[in-house]
This record gives sequence, C-alpha cells and structure tokens, in this order.
Amino acid sequence: MLRGERGTVVKRVLFGLPVCIFLLAGPLTWAGTLEVDLPEHQLLQGDLHGLSVTAPEPLTWLHARFRGLSLPVRAEKGRYTVLLAVDLETAPGPYPLEFEAQGTSGSRYRESVRITVADGRFPVQRLTLPKGMVDLDVKTLDRVRREQKAIAGTWKKWQAGPYWWQAFVPPLEGTLDVTSEFGLRRILNGQPRNPHSGVDFRALLGTPVRASNGGLVVYTGELFFNGNSVILHHGGGLFTMYFHLQGYRVETGQEVAKGEVLGWVGATGRATGPHLHWGANLRGVRFDPRGLLMLSLP
Ligand SMILES: [Zn+2]
Repeated sequence: MLRGERGTVVKRVLFGLPVCIFLLAGPLTWAGTLEVDLPEHQLLQGDLHGLSVTAPEPLTWLHARFRGLSLPVRAEKGRYTVLLAVDLETAPGPYPLEFEAQGTSGSRYRESVRITVADGRFPVQRLTLPKGMVDLDVKTLDRVRREQKAIAGTWKKWQAGPYWWQAFVPPLEGTLDVTSEFGLRRILNGQPRNPHSGVDFRALLGTPVRASNGGLVVYTGELFFNGNSVILHHGGGLFTMYFHLQGYRVETGQEVAKGEVLGWVGATGRATGPHLHWGANLRGVRFDPRGLLMLSLP
C-alpha cells in the first residue's frame, strides 16, 4: 500500500556561498547552483525519500544532514541521490535539511532547505489482556533489555558499501497481504507500547523469505519478542530485518545476494500465527520498509 502520491518537483535553490572572484581584467564569476529535487508533498512519519541533487560541476564530496544525522549519498555521473528517512516518532513540523559540498574547482556550496514532516496517522489498537500475559517477569525483562541493547548497537556498526545501489525487492514472492500495519500503536491494558516499527505480511509456515537486496548478514539469533531473526546491512547504514522465522540458513558475517533465501516464515517469538515481520532502519531511523520498493534505483 502506498501512503500518498509521491511526485517530485525540481527546485532551483540559490545555492552556495556566492563566491565573487575579482580578477584584474576578468568578469565577475559566481559559484554555480545545485539543483535539489524536493518532495512535492509533505513527508510523513516513517517515510523514505530519495532526493536527487545535481551539481554544476563534479563534486569531490557532498554531505547532507537531517535532524543531526548524516545521510547516505550515492554519486553517479554528476547526479547525487541522498537517502532521507523520517523516523516514525519524529514530531510533526518543519526541519532543516542541510547540504554542504565541494566542487573539483574548489568552489564550496552550502544550503539549507526546509522539510516538513506530517503525522503518519498510524492506526491505534487497544487490547485488554490478562495481566500475566502483558507484564514480563524480571528475568524476561532483563533478557529483553539485553536484546534491545544488542540490536541498537547494530545500527552503529555500519560501514560504507555498494550493496544498495540496486532496486530493492519484496522479501516474499507474490501478493503482499498486510496483517499488521507499519506504525500501529498498540495500547495494552491502557499502557502504550512501542509502535510497530515494521510491517507484517501473512504467509504460510515455511514460505521462503528472501533478501530484499544484496547485503551483509549482521545479526542472526533468537529474540524474545521477534523470535528467529536475521538483520542485513546493505551498506551506508541501511538495514532490513526479517523476524519470527521458523528457521534461517545464513550466519552473521556472510554476504548474501539480492533475492537469496535467508530462511522461512514461522511464528517464533511473540507471534499469534505464521507471518513475516519486515523492518527497515537507516542509521537508527525506523521507516516503512515499503519505501525501499519505491526508490528509483537502476
Ligand atoms: Zn510485526
């Protein structure tokens, strides 16, 4: 399901420190401008967007920052794609997106554009369950905290890599039947729980689960909530996650190809039936993994 139409509009921004160079007999010259494709619509919480930046000359580097986070940049023949992800809990409102670049001529460019984040309007589910099913005992709570820390540490271990320079594919073949939406906010016995940071697809037990893109296996293990889990790093701090697996056939440190079978759909961990939880993360930012399928990559 696509949340909102995505068009882009080319906005020419007044880029750059206009650098004036007076030569004795020469004309006045200015540093050129960068062209930035801004999203035509407001971005929603949990959105992923590939912003395209065109420079008047080849760049030696281009940095982009959003909410204190450096964003990955892909360079290809003078065209630059910046991956911008909005965390599902980022408060709605305007935020600056800052660019800084240097051309091969030595010219510097700097610009700040405004990105407005709108409410993702995620569904809310209220459940009343027996207390014993909701509250974890001390030992389990300890285990969950340790696991959460280990996973959070994974996001910091990213490295540059070429793996995501190809279009992404869904982790399951055939029609994707969503059983639990991305961003769903569950309130158990009146207490809000962590929002659903992935999307659940219905599938038969044992259905092969495939790598959405080439990558490096950075985590495999059995987690209390997520069951048998595989996490892939696609380079540049972009990760995809596959949870509740019946089993997996890959190991940490292994490189996998796009479409390669990682494991099989199961109901391990806290799951009421067989399904695949597919998640995505960009340098710690949780976004709807279906945004990856809409990126325009070769
Ligand atoms: Zn899920």
